[in-house]
Amino acid sequence: MSTPRNEVTSPATGKSVLVVEDEENLLAAIKYNLEREGYRALSATDGERGLTKASQERPDLLILDVMLPRLDGFEVCRLIRRESDVPILFLTARDQEMDRVVGLELGADDYVVKPFSMRELLARVKAMLRRPRSSRDERGEPPESIVSGDLEITLSSHTLTRGGEPVTLKPRAFELLALLMAHKGRVFTRGQILDRLWGMDFIGDARTVDVHVRWVREKIEDDAGKPSRIVTVRGVGYRFDG
Ligand code: CA
Repeated sequence: MSTPRNEVTSPATGKSVLVVEDEENLLAAIKYNLEREGYRALSATDGERGLTKASQERPDLLILDVMLPRLDGFEVCRLIRRESDVPILFLTARDQEMDRVVGLELGADDYVVKPFSMRELLARVKAMLRRPRSSRDERGEPPESIVSGDLEITLSSHTLTRGGEPVTLKPRAFELLALLMAHKGRVFTRGQILDRLWGMDFIGDARTVDVHVRWVREKIEDDAGKPSRIVTVRGVGYRFDG
């Protein structure tokens, strides 16, 4: 029986992975291995080009080195996160970098520490691409409405209802709730929330975020003093639990 072997052994065919890495030998080795596994491998050798390619090609996954010329991996990640939830795997070299990556300050989904084996890298890539993402996420579009328990948010009309009853929120507070609800279970740092809602030009205090969280809690929690929907993750930020 003759089976087209490539199709059978390459379940990953069609998924694209963008690798942003300035060490050319390492870049070539990663590309080679990804392609051998059936992925479409795209590459860039500095942060700026990586950013451009990420928004043009909309890859299914990003492998991002931390130390990059022109724009480092942290900055690239921060800018990408403002418009996309593409899974990001960091390549880190130093302990200091690792602390920041692990601290989830940046919205990275996973990381590997150099030097790493190709087998380990490919296993991570495979696992990350298996995690479910909504089709709207893949297209980079926000969902039209988000429901959780008795809460329903409709983005186009900027309306929130609780148990069918309309609830009013100030615009930024509404956006904050929408951001957290759209990523249920994911922790956002105050810095990430400021970036997403106020933009990178905002000069101010992360306490602004705390104030908005308090306003939202007063509207959606049974007891705003003991919140169970928007929870505080000590030392990190906030998470919507449902
Ligand atoms: Ca590098």
